[in-house]
Amino acid sequence: MSTIFGPVHSRRFGVSLGIDLSPSHKQCNFDCLYCELAPATTVDIQTKTPSVQSIITDLQTALQEHSNIDEITLTANGEPTLYPHLKELISEIDKIKESKETLILTNSAALVDENVFNSLLDLDQVKLSLDAVSTDIFRKIDRPHEAIDLSKLIDAVVRFSDVYTGKLFIEILFVRGLNDTKQEVAKLNSVLHKLKALRIDIGTIDRPPAYPVEGISYGELVNIAQQFDASLPINIASRVHAEFSQSSYSDAEIINTLDKRPLTPEDVEILFDKKSTERLLALVKSKKVDVIERAKLEFYVPVENLERKRKK
Ligand code: SF4
Repeated sequence: MSTIFGPVHSRRFGVSLGIDLSPSHKQCNFDCLYCELAPATTVDIQTKTPSVQSIITDLQTALQEHSNIDEITLTANGEPTLYPHLKELISEIDKIKESKETLILTNSAALVDENVFNSLLDLDQVKLSLDAVSTDIFRKIDRPHEAIDLSKLIDAVVRFSDVYTGKLFIEILFVRGLNDTKQEVAKLNSVLHKLKALRIDIGTIDRPPAYPVEGISYGELVNIAQQFDASLPINIASRVHAEFSQSSYSDAEIINTLDKRPLTPEDVEILFDKKSTERLLALVKSKKVDVIERAKLEFYVPVENLERKRKK
């Protein structure tokens, strides 16, 4: 299976080709309650990873087919900053990306490692997650690897924000009953003031979560947004703000994309052109793709994936 998936239209980052740095299985230093992948024991290094050369070969092929994208996104079944050859990979992508921008979506924890810190400085865009600034809440939501210290993590995020010259985004995901209290929002507010973020996305669970937790409503997100200082660039990240941009997907691309990221019928309406939607429905009919329900939303998931990565 290719290490590349998409194109994916993100609610916030435009159209991108994703690179999965851990295609075989989940390898992450967190085990978040809200993770869209199945629960897994945390790790602090990735042991099974694709080579830089195989990723670059896959990427070159994908870029020939999908030249009209905005970004190349480093992500993973797990945490992309645990990929051991990150600096070399970013340097090789820079040689072929032309006007496209590189982006990483990270949980921020490995920023305490100077090698990771310096590698991320080479990217055009970095999105750092920071779900909580109180240790007890952080441990409950993100279930980090035992060696991770929240105060060091926050220090590294602040330090990174000070020296990084690319586009920095912060993301906070709210889980009902955990980090959605007035007290935690006030503490997050203080830390966010120290960061030079272009945008702070606040969102909630909108994918099937690993554990039985609930997101909060759009109205509650609005209420939380209003608790942050007006000077902060808070953005409510919600599906209703998704821009409309359809692409063509082959059967293999549909399976590969759904394998990395389950999509709702609304996502499909946004992402897929008419022929690709027909292909998807044919895959459902032939039982290669199933429809599952999570948190009152329907998601398309490859049948093979249900056995391997997610519980039905
Ligand atoms: S949500 Fe991201 S950081 Fe959290 S466990 Fe899943 S892959 Fe890891």
